[in-house]
Amino acid sequence: MNFELREFADTRYVPKKLSEQTVSCPVCNAETKLSIYAHDVPVVGTLLLFVLTCPNCGYRYRDSVPLAHAGKHVRITIKLNKPQALSALLYRSPYANVSIPELDIEINAGPANPGEITTPEALLLKLAETLFPLCTTVDNPEKCFDVVKKLVQAANGEVPVTLVIDDPSGLSTILKATECEYSVVVES
Ligand SMILES: [Zn+2]
Repeated sequence: MNFELREFADTRYVPKKLSEQTVSCPVCNAETKLSIYAHDVPVVGTLLLFVLTCPNCGYRYRDSVPLAHAGKHVRITIKLNKPQALSALLYRSPYANVSIPELDIEINAGPANPGEITTPEALLLKLAETLFPLCTTVDNPEKCFDVVKKLVQAANGEVPVTLVIDDPSGLSTILKATECEYSVVVES
């Protein structure tokens, strides 16, 4: 982990772009970009800004989330034991490590994992998709395929698992998790 605090220490006056992802416009369904910025605001603290402008229909989306824990190591744990938990809305920063203790899975932050707004369901399916082609190359393919199967079952709500997002940048956050069992632990 080579995350350093100064990476977003210069966001006081100019928001720093953390990531850009391709999404569908909620109005016309055209392909558009969702950009995510970190912005330091006096008194309020660090804000995470979400910006989308559709090049097709002109739809504009702006949202911001205060990040109380920016710069502090946070560990977000969500129990995926019901549909509401699987569809909780999360921001996973590019610095976050994702793990599922029950399946002995850990995905470390890296250039291949830009930050994203996602749900546990989408995260589990993406993990399964990433892991599947690798299974024939590992020592124990059978175990690997079993993990892929369990990931898909977990995404379908058939196997309860725990999602752990461990983020030394503190930027990862839960955007919406109504009726979910979760905890956010901040290391001081
Ligand atoms: Zn549009």
